[in-house]
Amino acid sequence: PADIDFDQIRSDFPVLQEEVRGKPLVYLDNAASSQMPTPVADRIDHYHRHEHANVHRGIHHLSQKATDAYEATRKKIRSFINAEHLHEVIYTTGTTDGINLVAHSFGEQFLSEGDEIIVSEIEHHANIVPWQIAAQKHGANVRVIPVNDAGELIWDEFLKLINERTAIIAVAQVSNALGTVHPVKRIIREAHKHDIPVLVDGAQGVPHSLVDVQDLDADFYAFSSHKMCGPTGFGILYGKEKYLEKMPPYRSGGDMIDKVAFEGTTFNDLPHKFEAGTPPIVAGIGLGAAVDYLTDIGMENIAAHEQQLLDYATEQLLSIDGLRIIGTAQEKASVISFVFDDIHATDIGTILDQQGIAIRTGHHCAQPAMRRYNIPGTARASLSFYNNKQDINRLVEGVKEAKGFF
Ligand code: PMP
Repeated sequence: PADIDFDQIRSDFPVLQEEVRGKPLVYLDNAASSQMPTPVADRIDHYHRHEHANVHRGIHHLSQKATDAYEATRKKIRSFINAEHLHEVIYTTGTTDGINLVAHSFGEQFLSEGDEIIVSEIEHHANIVPWQIAAQKHGANVRVIPVNDAGELIWDEFLKLINERTAIIAVAQVSNALGTVHPVKRIIREAHKHDIPVLVDGAQGVPHSLVDVQDLDADFYAFSSHKMCGPTGFGILYGKEKYLEKMPPYRSGGDMIDKVAFEGTTFNDLPHKFEAGTPPIVAGIGLGAAVDYLTDIGMENIAAHEQQLLDYATEQLLSIDGLRIIGTAQEKASVISFVFDDIHATDIGTILDQQGIAIRTGHHCAQPAMRRYNIPGTARASLSFYNNKQDINRLVEGVKEAKGFF
């Protein structure tokens, strides 16, 4: 990323200039939520002060303006992820909401007794529990692709799980717990040989790499605004028209209808069929600004910068005696999970916090992944493009200090 000044980019994030507990903030909890740059915050502020009205409803000027701004995000997302059709971009409230939508609506239409849903062993709970609930409802079963000691899917075991009862495969692009990059393109290619659709949980994919849903040939792809410099309360579900058309509505009410009568109601066309009620308008507009911001920097530049930092952080952390990295896959992105045999992750996190360093500790909403490694949780540092080597050095110093305590 030679021509991008990533140090300059830091000045777009006011919070990075602030102190926490008397020390300059080091923010390494990006997998939970990223920080918001000034252009996005300004866009949100401007909307609240000058543009607010309900969308899709009024013929008045302000409502049309709000609708245009809100719908502009759909176009930005379409080109950001290279969706074929605009109506394949469904607004949700986040990754969790998107996966629930598919588990419910795909389930209603396509799941029957004895069917199988394949997920990986290291999924986020958001890509496990909705499938368990759908499976229970339709008499289907959830099957699990195991991972090896490095946190990589065991390909042969995956192949063994595919059979004529497999209805859908749901897998993360990047594991939020271990940082593993799953071979989603290869998984999709294999699944499509058997006409099995694949949902990709892209919560940790989109913020850290250039995603092209047509190149992946993903059937569904879900992600969250708040992990990609946008506000909370918003997200995207990309779905192929051929599935979305056949799936019944998920939530119902205003906007998602065509005609309502007590004799019966018909539903709106895509994408609105899946978008009921007054949406988080400002959050959608904010995500549009975030997409503009990320596009300006370039996702390939972001990926390259973060990969350099990840390599540096991995090397530096491994120089600490007794530190063990959980998740040593060949291909990783933006996440380092680590443990010490004799120090609790929570204690590491607490001592780091006293130094103004924000990481996350615990099971990271991936309890089965923790069980796989026989640990209650990890300390997790997760990177963004606005992090730098100095952040990593502070982290390493902090962990050393924490270690000295015990
Ligand atoms: N999947 C993965 C891989 C995640 O990292 C997260 C967020 N930690 C989610 C799903 C859920 O995202 P959200 O809470 O924004 O719905």
